[in-house]
Amino acid sequence: MAANSLLQDSNFRKFQEQSQNYGYKSYDKYVTCVVDDHLFVFTGATTTTLNLFIRFNIEGADSNSIIALLKVRLPDKVRFPKPSAQASDLVLTYVEKIKSPNYFYDLGSILQILVSTLHEFGVTPQRNCAICSGQNADAFGWHKDAFVAAHRFCLQAEYQKETADLTESLVKGSYLLGIIGAFLGTLIGAIPTFLSIFFLERIIIYLCALIPIAGAVGYRLFKGKPTWVAALVVLLFSLLEAFVIELAVAYATVMSIVGYWPSIIDVIKIYFAVFNAEMAGSLGLTILFIAIGVAVTFPFISRTAKKDLSSVAERMNSITDRR
Ligand SMILES: [Zn+2]
Repeated sequence: MAANSLLQDSNFRKFQEQSQNYGYKSYDKYVTCVVDDHLFVFTGATTTTLNLFIRFNIEGADSNSIIALLKVRLPDKVRFPKPSAQASDLVLTYVEKIKSPNYFYDLGSILQILVSTLHEFGVTPQRNCAICSGQNADAFGWHKDAFVAAHRFCLQAEYQKETADLTESLVKGSYLLGIIGAFLGTLIGAIPTFLSIFFLERIIIYLCALIPIAGAVGYRLFKGKPTWVAALVVLLFSLLEAFVIELAVAYATVMSIVGYWPSIIDVIKIYFAVFNAEMAGSLGLTILFIAIGVAVTFPFISRTAKKDLSSVAERMNSITDRR
């Protein structure tokens, strides 16, 4: 979440702040608004103007016919997607100067036009709960990476369950098991890198990113305590993996020379006995690539229960009641 808000456009953030005064709701990098029981979800992306993406449901209607009519009805500031295959959602772009004083007024009238057009096309708001499939969903909220129609009760129960699970993982998680899991994970994650070095004779940076990812997955699978220690353990084992990879390559080389499976101890002895600048360079490069792999996967590796708990708590803000 933090990474998202850093990348988030400042104009959109301004819109997020201002929108609160006009009855819109803000959650993470989204703004939502319910007009006549239709949910509109706003996201932003921009340069110097405010570019709002307005997403809404048009299930059951022909998107091309709706677009054709909306093109006549909506102001020029609204951009339309190219006609495409039928989708359940339509996304329009509203381009405006953030300093324009009346843009909330304009936005309000755009939403009114959208709602009346949806009515004409017989689009009815989703009433089934996305969580329990029951009828009369009385809210919209965040569920599995999207805003959905659901019962407020079901959404809250889901967030509470997640909170309870996270709290339990903090209480019952074990550093020792996590360390074992991370070690095994990085070992498995290093297999593709090892294979690429052995068969292609080069190290591929994307494959290196698998090492910390597999380490973090291993840490979680083994129910390691989800704190900052996880990231540290994964980091250390990932870097250690560079050495393991080099040794594995040395092992394969020795084996091809002697023609049988040498003992690992012997190979380690030979490795250090013949260690030279070229090998040091190779080890350094592997470490560098793995370090880059750790850096790009850091948001995943460094997830902690504490961070997850605060993002679940924040998710309560995603719920909008329907009248
Ligand atoms: Zn429900």
